[in-house]
Amino acid sequence: MSELYDFAAADQLSREEILALQATRLREAVAQALRSPHYSRLGLSPDALRSAEDVCRLPLTSKDDLRAAMPWDMLAVPKREVLRVHYSSGTTGVATAVYHTRGDLQRWAECVARGMLAGGVTSDDIFQNMMGYGLFTGGLGFHYAGELLGCMTIPASSGQTARQVQMMQLFGVTVMHILPSYALHVAHYCGQEGLVMGRDLRLRAGYLGGEPHTEDFRHRIQDAWGAKFYNCYGLSELAGPGVAMECACQDGLHVREDHYLPEIVDPATGEPVPEGEEGELVLTSLTREAMPLLRYRTRDITCFLEGECPCGNHHRRLARIRGRSDDMLVLRGVNFYPMQVERVLMGIPEVGTNYCLVLTREQDLDHLTVQVELRPGTSFDDNRVLEGMRDRIAEELRAELLFKVSVELLEPHRLPVAEGKAVRVVDKR
Ligand SMILES: [Zn+2]
Repeated sequence: MSELYDFAAADQLSREEILALQATRLREAVAQALRSPHYSRLGLSPDALRSAEDVCRLPLTSKDDLRAAMPWDMLAVPKREVLRVHYSSGTTGVATAVYHTRGDLQRWAECVARGMLAGGVTSDDIFQNMMGYGLFTGGLGFHYAGELLGCMTIPASSGQTARQVQMMQLFGVTVMHILPSYALHVAHYCGQEGLVMGRDLRLRAGYLGGEPHTEDFRHRIQDAWGAKFYNCYGLSELAGPGVAMECACQDGLHVREDHYLPEIVDPATGEPVPEGEEGELVLTSLTREAMPLLRYRTRDITCFLEGECPCGNHHRRLARIRGRSDDMLVLRGVNFYPMQVERVLMGIPEVGTNYCLVLTREQDLDHLTVQVELRPGTSFDDNRVLEGMRDRIAEELRAELLFKVSVELLEPHRLPVAEGKAVRVVDKR
């Protein structure tokens, strides 16, 4: 590996080396956390922690703890050492702040850069970062990683599709970072403009983040662009993107375990789930200075993948995020996730890429209507064919969700397209 990329050396560590490093860093992380007013009140003792597994003896930290600690109680360094603040409300509730020292920002950039390097991105690449810049961490998180790798980096931010495509052509962009729903929107725009992938546009890789999506949805994005797209996971409370990213194998996201200690717990009880089972991801930051978090509940539902990855990186892999525990919907006593609907829809060839779940209440009874756009070119002339298709989609959804669902078929591009995160659920109850 080139000296330029020395920061990626940790991706060569053996499993034993990773575990030893985690044990040492966990004690250091707890000692650092104790410098914050919030954790100092909890009376923790770092010396009692002998191995990485002992992390489960520490208390969990929740989003509510962060809210209660606003503005300064999570801060573990003097304010003059803070270089940057990110501030976000997430999807619900009171906004919380996340603080970074110079070292925190450096390690954050390195984590994202390691993930990009694992997908083959180098200083030869021209990187267009199409995520929002500013308080949202998607933009700046990848920006500094692109520069660290030596890529020509274009801080395009999100929106203004025509200008995005113009820059891609002009500069010969090879790598992008983008929301999954927006990736399809931009590809569709390129098609309308008569642009040919591989001839007019030279994209060869993309990084997806910000929205959970299914494997089939990823395949549609890859087909539309003729390029490989990699999943990237992170959350602003733990810096942002780069906590876990896919390698070239595209089979699970390697957690950067020298900086983040992951656990999977039962979202209802907070207890660890048996190895390989699905649950809520809990993360402990091992190297953060300004705002260390111990056992932070991410609300994201996933599981560890078993076995070694063929790429040779021994950092454990997470399955793609199945949804957020916050996203869980309850209809007539049945729990389900919007991702389950997407998985069904994306498996049906006639279905396009946009859909929306509308929940209503009629005469005290909850009801789900799924609005589904069909693929461009689908004829809406033959009612019998449409009815047959609608019934088939409704039946497949019923089989997955175990309750009756109404399906409304729409012509392509009838649902509103957001240049930010896609709106997939409208709850009118
Ligand atoms: Zn791998």
